[in-house]
Amino acid sequence: MSRPALAAPAAALQDVIRHLDGPSGLLEIYRALDERYRDDIWHWMPDVASGPFDVIAGAVLVQHTSWHLAERALNAMRAAGALDPAELLARPLDEIERLVRVSGMPRMKAQRLRAVAATIDTSGGLDALLALPAAELRDRLLATRGIGPETADAIVLYAAGRPAFVIDAYTRRTFGRLGLRPDDDTYDGWQRMFVEGLSEAGSVELFQRYHGHIVLHGKALCRATPRCAPCPLLQRCPEGRSRADGATSAAAS
Ligand code: SF4
Repeated sequence: MSRPALAAPAAALQDVIRHLDGPSGLLEIYRALDERYRDDIWHWMPDVASGPFDVIAGAVLVQHTSWHLAERALNAMRAAGALDPAELLARPLDEIERLVRVSGMPRMKAQRLRAVAATIDTSGGLDALLALPAAELRDRLLATRGIGPETADAIVLYAAGRPAFVIDAYTRRTFGRLGLRPDDDTYDGWQRMFVEGLSEAGSVELFQRYHGHIVLHGKALCRATPRCAPCPLLQRCPEGRSRADGATSAAAS
């Protein structure tokens, strides 16, 4: 499926990030990543995603697998007419399992999709759930079987369009290498570091774009074995500079 390129950040956001930076340096890093990744596709941005329930189902299907396989499962559900909370509640579990098998752990993911569909149902429908205040929405998602903080925040941010900074393994890896780790090395500690570090610049659009850029960066350059030479963050990255120094010393000896 061909998809449109992401729209440029709104002028208001551009203006904010141009004129602000805090001691954390998080906006400076955002600017460097935005320079590199702003034209790349991020599947959950509002101008790319098909709708909020696609985001919700995708957030469950992508657990423990790649987006490529999660998207194949989403397409299978869509083709079967099952990408709908009421359908997920009405159809036999083994049928849902079959549809999502390509994304791995089919029994667990079918049960989690069912659980989130039940949460939507008991909340009075998808629109009613997504209209809840962000904290209440997050609590309701966290009370749903198989929905942890990362999945809940992805839904709050990309499906409901409310501010929540999503922390994932790419975030921890890249920012750990950059030497930006919170003292409290927990999900909440990491999230607090971003929300407080971005302070008044923090907005739904910034959080959406920032998380998308971090994932793209983690796949393209800051991989398990990073490719530091072309990285736009190299000059401010202790890990990248140490690797570059090591490579120079090895070449000289
Ligand atoms: S310089 Fe290397 S380790 Fe540092 S952020 Fe870039 S890719 Fe990751």
